Amino acid sequence: MSKQTLSFQAEVKQILHLVTHSLYSNKEIFLRELVSNASDACDKLRFEALNHAELYGDAPNLEVRVAFDAEAKTITITDNGIGLSEFEAVANLGTIAKSGTREFMARLEGDQKKDANLIGQFGVGFYSGFIVADRITVESRRAGLKPEEGVRWVSEGAGEFEVETITRPERGTSVILHLREGEDEFLASWKLRSIIGKYSDHISLPILMRKEEWDSEAGKQKLTDEWAPVNKASALWTRAKNDITPEQYEEFYKQISYDTEAPLAYTHNRVEGRSEYTQLLYVPAKAPFDLWNRDKRGGVKLYVKRVFIMDDAEALMPVYLRFVKGVIDSADLPLNVSRELLQESRDVKAIREGSTKRVLSMLEGLADSEDAAEREKYAKFWKDFGVVLKEGIGEDHANQERLAKLLRFASTHADEGVSLKDYLGRMKDGQEAIYYITADTLAAARSSPQLEIFRKKGIEVLLLADRVDEWMLAHLYEFDGKPLQSVAKGAVDLGKLQDEDEKKQAEQAAEAFKPVLEKLKEALKDRAKDVRVTTRLVDSPACLVVEEGDMSGHLARLLKQAGQEAPKGMPILEVNAEHALVKRLDGSAHFDDLAHILFDQALLAEGGQVEDPAAYVRRVNALLAA
Ligand code: ADP
Ligand code: MG
Repeated sequence: MSKQTLSFQAEVKQILHLVTHSLYSNKEIFLRELVSNASDACDKLRFEALNHAELYGDAPNLEVRVAFDAEAKTITITDNGIGLSEFEAVANLGTIAKSGTREFMARLEGDQKKDANLIGQFGVGFYSGFIVADRITVESRRAGLKPEEGVRWVSEGAGEFEVETITRPERGTSVILHLREGEDEFLASWKLRSIIGKYSDHISLPILMRKEEWDSEAGKQKLTDEWAPVNKASALWTRAKNDITPEQYEEFYKQISYDTEAPLAYTHNRVEGRSEYTQLLYVPAKAPFDLWNRDKRGGVKLYVKRVFIMDDAEALMPVYLRFVKGVIDSADLPLNVSRELLQESRDVKAIREGSTKRVLSMLEGLADSEDAAEREKYAKFWKDFGVVLKEGIGEDHANQERLAKLLRFASTHADEGVSLKDYLGRMKDGQEAIYYITADTLAAARSSPQLEIFRKKGIEVLLLADRVDEWMLAHLYEFDGKPLQSVAKGAVDLGKLQDEDEKKQAEQAAEAFKPVLEKLKEALKDRAKDVRVTTRLVDSPACLVVEEGDMSGHLARLLKQAGQEAPKGMPILEVNAEHALVKRLDGSAHFDDLAHILFDQALLAEGGQVEDPAAYVRRVNALLAA
């Protein structure tokens, strides 16, 4: 086939523009990205060769070579991995829209150092070559194709690229960077070695460079024809803990996660017994941009006996721990394991259970630490990842109790950070339940009328306002033998917390109020299931509650927002017989208006919407004018 000129896909053009115009302050990352691609290509070959050993041909040792030519001003990164067919070169290096492009653009902060680190995370790393090169040539042949089926791809990183068929005797890819004017600093062995050492030391295959020797005639170093590894090429997790420094753990984390910040915590263990594996797992310090996405695959890479099998092996971690990053290296799984097989494997189940426990221990270690700085780390973790951890309460029954201990809440007693254990420690004599309220926002929860009696008696109530809370509470019935009880469901029964006098007084008030109550029920019969006198209110005239098994108003609103049909159950109106407004009902000429206003205000107070705002306004005005 003759030479063909093609246009980059629109989003790729944007990336290119950005790379060349705004990432020049952290140039060296181009090498990390290209070495990482070379290493990925070798991993892919190794994986395909599991079932097609012939792909190795006569070059079974996978490696990456980094070379430079000071005269031609080029740097060449060569691998003998899977290679690219002509079709793949066109698609993968130019015409397929990069899925991460939009997120990448959206996340740029203008801080070049941080931005440059993001580039690999979003699958656009190849283009970082254009930070230092004004032309890139890629020559490649896919494993399994004939030498005449090689491809050359050339671009100056503007709008277009060229492809042509070439003959390439060896399998794999060479990426040749033609350096821009002024980028000569990269044409030095020590410079390239130091960048590789910094970013790519943990790549588990050898990265080779030509050895140098002293040329006494010229009075300087000169390159020899002998290639030698410049990285340790030992997968970090296979080394003994004692031989790994905290900095190395941290650097490895940054490499696999593309995070710029150090991890919050990590755990590294070799597990032996029924199932044998090594795990190196990290908890990030900050939530990723797509933490909410439950479909996103996990961040754990699967290796089998040091052979890379797959990224994001979601079967290795429960969904609610999808933020965990790291590596699991199994000694038992077959090398040709597929995602489908993973889902069913008993070994994988054992690994998942073991790893889940490890992550929970790591979090408990922070949460229960003697060291205030560690506990502070847990508080930070909770702020970012708490909502996701809450999913675990419903998903992971085996670990529910451990998870419940890790939960943190806002309450009427503290703005944040209240654990269920803290709550138990503050329970009043005779208190039998853990009280909570859910609302659309924390502010709404905090000022909810249902809390009044609890406030008055100094009883703590947990305040919940995350979307996931209702779901979580549907699975968490009790903690340490104490039931969790919504203060907005059912009648308030403070049990032993109420003294006999108070009870008697309440009964008498209810008795005296009975005739008015009957009229109220009649007036509101289309809106309220029942109307009753309550002791839960102190300052407010009325509030809405639902029956024990019914859906709360808050959850019904959440469902509605999510476009789902919520059951049309009616709430119960509870009134405070001691309140001035309620007292006015008796004998009032505006009884009907007052009744509806009481109901509508109770609805507004819990964050609901009045069904007929115009009617509400009319009624209020009628009363004001009366
Ligand atoms: P990512 O590595 O996240 O997929 P890149 O922009 O770094 O994104 O690379 C884009 C694609 O180009 C890769 O997915 C791969 O298909 C192809 N590619 C890049 N470098 C190589 C290489 N050395 N060998 C084979 N394919 C490569
Ligand atoms: Mg890449």
